[in-house]
Amino acid sequence: MTLTSPKAAPTPTTDTHCPYCSLQCGMRLGGGADGAPEVLERPEFPVNRGALCGKGRSAAAVLARDVRLTGPLLRDRPGGPLRAAGWPEALDRVADGLARVREQHGPDAVGVFGGGGLTNEKAYLLGKFARVVLRTANIDYNGRFCMSSAAAAHRRAFGLDRGLPFPLEDIPHTGCLILVGGNPADTMPPAVRYFRELRENGGTLIVVDPRRTRTAELADLHLQPRPGGDLALALGLLHLVIADGLVDKDFIAGRTSGFEAAREAAMAHWPDRVERITGVPAHQLREAARLFGTAETGMVLTARGPEQQSKGTDTVGAWINLCLATGNSGRPYAGYGCLTGQGNGQGGREHGQKADQLPGYRSIEDPAAREHVAAVWGVPPESIPGPGKSAYELLDGLGRPGGVRALLLAGSNPAVSAPNAGHVTERLRALDLLVVADLVLSETARLADVVLPVTQWAEEDGTTTNLEGRVILRRRAFDPPEGVRSELWVLRELAARLGVATGFPVAAVEAFDELRRASAGGDADYAGISYRRIVAEDGVFWPCPAEDHPGTRRLFLDRYATPDGRARFVAVTHRPAGEEPDEEYPLYLTTGRVLAQYQSGAQTRRVAGLTRAAPGPFVELHPRLAERLGVADGEPVAVTSRRGRAVAPARITDAIRADTVFMPFHWPGAGRANSLTNPALDPVSRMPEFKVCAVRVEKAAGPSGGGAAGGGEAAGGPSGGGAAGDGEAAGGRDGGSDGQVVRPFDRSGEVAGQAARAGQEVAP
Ligand code: SF4
Repeated sequence: MTLTSPKAAPTPTTDTHCPYCSLQCGMRLGGGADGAPEVLERPEFPVNRGALCGKGRSAAAVLARDVRLTGPLLRDRPGGPLRAAGWPEALDRVADGLARVREQHGPDAVGVFGGGGLTNEKAYLLGKFARVVLRTANIDYNGRFCMSSAAAAHRRAFGLDRGLPFPLEDIPHTGCLILVGGNPADTMPPAVRYFRELRENGGTLIVVDPRRTRTAELADLHLQPRPGGDLALALGLLHLVIADGLVDKDFIAGRTSGFEAAREAAMAHWPDRVERITGVPAHQLREAARLFGTAETGMVLTARGPEQQSKGTDTVGAWINLCLATGNSGRPYAGYGCLTGQGNGQGGREHGQKADQLPGYRSIEDPAAREHVAAVWGVPPESIPGPGKSAYELLDGLGRPGGVRALLLAGSNPAVSAPNAGHVTERLRALDLLVVADLVLSETARLADVVLPVTQWAEEDGTTTNLEGRVILRRRAFDPPEGVRSELWVLRELAARLGVATGFPVAAVEAFDELRRASAGGDADYAGISYRRIVAEDGVFWPCPAEDHPGTRRLFLDRYATPDGRARFVAVTHRPAGEEPDEEYPLYLTTGRVLAQYQSGAQTRRVAGLTRAAPGPFVELHPRLAERLGVADGEPVAVTSRRGRAVAPARITDAIRADTVFMPFHWPGAGRANSLTNPALDPVSRMPEFKVCAVRVEKAAGPSGGGAAGGGEAAGGPSGGGAAGDGEAAGGRDGGSDGQVVRPFDRSGEVAGQAARAGQEVAP
């Protein structure tokens, strides 16, 4: 078996995985009749059993030369155009610029911003590059915008963070599942079969979402709270199961700590009060508590809805409390889990591109962890910097005194995907040096001084870790275009120019072997995982500390990863969102995704079929609100928050609450949803409040803004996996919602705003 193909050899086929979401569906790549890359089904892979959504089915379109970068681009003067350049010139420019800023302003004036779509190998070496070569504390990544609240709550309660502590195959066997702020029917359609099978087996599905999404339509019970109401809702359910005697006293006594304080906090959230806070009728609350509390086994899954809030960590903690109180944890077919969003959202946060972590999910402040990692890296422990700024804080400080002045950014597009994106764009413009490594000329790359074209999923080997904690292998199937290099090669070349000649392997398998050693003994222990095992076993679940260890499909069956082995209740109480509606801004805005686009659309906006299905942004609003505003379906409306304004066509539907509007966040321009969102941060996870802010909505004159295909983004941005309404593209549905295989879109891949190719000039 050859694991690293030296050249393009798509014959007969190559088994690999989708480049997009955290389901990491198995697929097969081959050459079609015309020789162009073709996505085929791979029915043996257990997670998706051959099913792919339209995004995965059409993923090969982004491999086409005419939609992507094929050579480095440089800007010779601020405000000047980007021009084509050779690699030596581009790398010299980057290395000189980083060194100059470091010399003039100190190492922390140089920053690194990564992405949850990067492979484990890239994430690992990016973190090492920041700490060993740049010596900066300031590295973080867009996964901070994705699962960080669930991760923080996981660690607080269980001492360990793995999105799902059980495999997806367990879902059909639970008795009652509450899905909070997630819409897999649009975000990961092949996963819907697990929920369907749950119901076919006699289980109950409860969905919590301010919108009646296609996932909510599958549910036995849909609770439709106001955005930001998830915390109060969880507390209300805990109140009821306690009051109705549905708690598991033996489990609480034997396997947990802190129940009494959590109980007291929950008892202040009686049903009528919760109804007033959330808008969910008390009788529905009682029904939900009964269904969950009386089920033999129960699960709660959260996604971005409850997590992307300024109280996201506490909100997830409240749902975990509900599981613990009812004994739904630490046993088969029960427990709390998070539906991770980005393709490598899980692995991306385990191996060192997060500001406060070292590989193996180690704390950067733990002396033993620093010593272990330093020994693998061959550096003194004291040379490793301490924790740096979280993602939004890093972006907010760009170009300011004491902030980052030179930024290396890989696999992310914050000009579209960050909260308060207008402000973030201004900060990016204020940098002395912005370097973007990407596949396409994203909106952020358009602002860069140097753009480095890098390889993508089908052109390189590398591992990712899916939402189950299953480490899988993406395989190289095709050669990249001649002028394109892997990020691993780029890091090695930059490290050498900056005086570190060794320690940056270009072969992914070598990087992975070093990652295994760096992670050994850590929470996310990959020591026993090899490329060979991954292929032979359809992925390996971490922790896997030795080659003869089977991997860990189910966590916490015997003990939790806390010092005393007990799960911890956390006493939390309701508090309002960072910004609640008022006279001036009387409505809630919540944001999310649509079926035919992924994140801020870097790749998917360049796929003709996806863009036809979901061509641009929209504002979803209730008929009563539309009538009050005098707006007809399709007419442009302006949405204004304290941070900005966005204009997009109205989409009128009674599937949304009348006090709430929804916008998808995939598009730049006048319809950019993140022009509006609130960067209020969760005090623990530093997650911005993407899912709740206060807005004013008015009928707008003139054409709607934004949309269409232009520009793009890397596999980055908030995963939006769920939430307070992950979007659906009404009229934009591109395929199956429940695991159906859909037809491939045409692979021409042309869309407006195509990526610049070497030789083109692109205005900033
Ligand atoms: S659900 Fe769709 S986007 Fe996600 S991994 Fe599967 S095919 Fe890709």
